[in-house]
Amino acid sequence: MGVSQDQGRDYLTMINAETALDLYEAARHRLPRVNYKGDCVPLSDLMELADRYDILLFDAFGVLNIGEEAIPGVPKRILELQAAGKRVMVLTNSASMPHSALLEKFTRQGYHFAPEDVISSRDVLLAHFAPAVGECWGVIVPPELQKGTLDDFPLTFLEDDPVDYKAVNGVLMLGSGGWTAKRQALLNEALCRQPRPLWVGNPDIVAPRESGFSAQPGYFAHHLADRSSIVPRFFGKPFRNIYHYAFSRMGSEFDPKRTVMIGDSLHTDILGAQASGIDSALVVNHGLLAELCATDEICRTAIKPDFILTGL
Ligand SMILES: [Mg+2]
Repeated sequence: MGVSQDQGRDYLTMINAETALDLYEAARHRLPRVNYKGDCVPLSDLMELADRYDILLFDAFGVLNIGEEAIPGVPKRILELQAAGKRVMVLTNSASMPHSALLEKFTRQGYHFAPEDVISSRDVLLAHFAPAVGECWGVIVPPELQKGTLDDFPLTFLEDDPVDYKAVNGVLMLGSGGWTAKRQALLNEALCRQPRPLWVGNPDIVAPRESGFSAQPGYFAHHLADRSSIVPRFFGKPFRNIYHYAFSRMGSEFDPKRTVMIGDSLHTDILGAQASGIDSALVVNHGLLAELCATDEICRTAIKPDFILTGL
């Protein structure tokens, strides 16, 4: 597909929205199967969901923010929902950052979320990653986030030394910033030669950035799975584990009929909501589908949300 990970962050702009959708479709056999079809009711305003739902789960990239910046006007809308007594939670596949750093990022962007209302796929992965499981595992995470990452585990940060790839008992893929084609080849070779578990903390294939789409851990995990016998274990949307983790956080407040997922990705936010038995609203004016015809993509993928949000 012409993506070069050797050019640092330059490769981020080389995946366009159409290619991103193609990549998700190519990986569809590894995503949850869902028979549910929503009615795709058009809504022009986020507040129209407020009458129907008590708990609103928001995706981050493409809905709350693009890259590091909040989408203009969205912090104010979130405050309005919170002021109306709605429980607003974030359900994100962002797995590189510790929870505290993620919370700080949202605060910097003008959001005010309670710590327990920000749930990342990293939290879900860590809930499964007991010390006994994680002995001598390798981890893939951007260099700037290595410090303070999973300090309870004797992890090896996988970079350019082939010896490390051979020595580890399994691999955790949390973030792809700084990941290169050379490192992907080392991982591929090592796991083909000696298959070991691959846990992926971020099933996203792409994420919207200010100037294009970045390849995320899901991209590299599917790439590897396509070329080996490795079956990655994914944590995060569209897999049920993150939704069920969120539902358990809601306690007795949780009513599936009064809970909705709002996101810009058919293959993660919407598919995952449907697989987990809650309603969904697709954001089409920002994020993944902003440059595409959403109706065409809904037909092509046959993933039909309950609502289509043309405004936030
Ligand atoms: Mg998104």
